[in-house]
Amino acid sequence: MNNIPTIEDAVSLGQRQGILFVISGPSGAGKTSLCNQLVTRIPRLRFSISCTTRPHRSGEVDGQDYAFVSKDTFQKMIDAKEFLEWAEVYGHLYGTHRTATAQTLTEGIDLLLDIDEQGAMQLKKTFQKGVFIYLLPPSWDELQTRLQTRGLDSQESIQMRLNRARDEMQHFRQYTYIAVNNDLNQTLKELEAVITAERMKTAYVDKSCLDGQNHAQ
Ligand code: 5GP
Repeated sequence: MNNIPTIEDAVSLGQRQGILFVISGPSGAGKTSLCNQLVTRIPRLRFSISCTTRPHRSGEVDGQDYAFVSKDTFQKMIDAKEFLEWAEVYGHLYGTHRTATAQTLTEGIDLLLDIDEQGAMQLKKTFQKGVFIYLLPPSWDELQTRLQTRGLDSQESIQMRLNRARDEMQHFRQYTYIAVNNDLNQTLKELEAVITAERMKTAYVDKSCLDGQNHAQ
């Protein structure tokens, strides 16, 4: 009798496939801070660690922020079809690992991906049930200020990021949700609400467990 799943099992997060939450938006919109906060606050939500050929920034930890690999290794991974999606962004290669993603989702753990628009659109084709969130800064001026004050990029790189942001933004309607990151705490609340609501969708309920309940009665 003890093996018969309860209704709570059927509806609970651990009994179903994980959900893919994808966040895109211009650099400087605040994706990294938001993702860090979201995985800290929300149980059963894991950050997807991308592979990249971009050099380390100070403070970044290999295997935690990114898996830093050489161009040669990245190319071999492309050839071996190890990426679910990959793209060149600002002259560097970035990709989402296929097996790691599948493993997490199979465990019933939701994944949070911070990837660019090219990658998000590739995933939209394979993960129709994925949740695609577009994050915007409050204004172009604010974006420029944020890029300058974080001190990670040269003037040339900042200009490139601003131009790219304007192009990318044209595709925001391809995303399920849009959020304007004016205030980090407020945006966090909004994204937490999105994740909570998505998790409550009937589409994710394990129907066979509910059937098991009926038979038990
Ligand atoms: P950064 O170098 O500033 O950490 O990231 C640059 C851009 O690459 C960001 O827009 C980020 O969302 C994107 N990015 C990070 N990882 C991936 C990935 O695995 N795939 C794709 N397509 N983009 C990624």
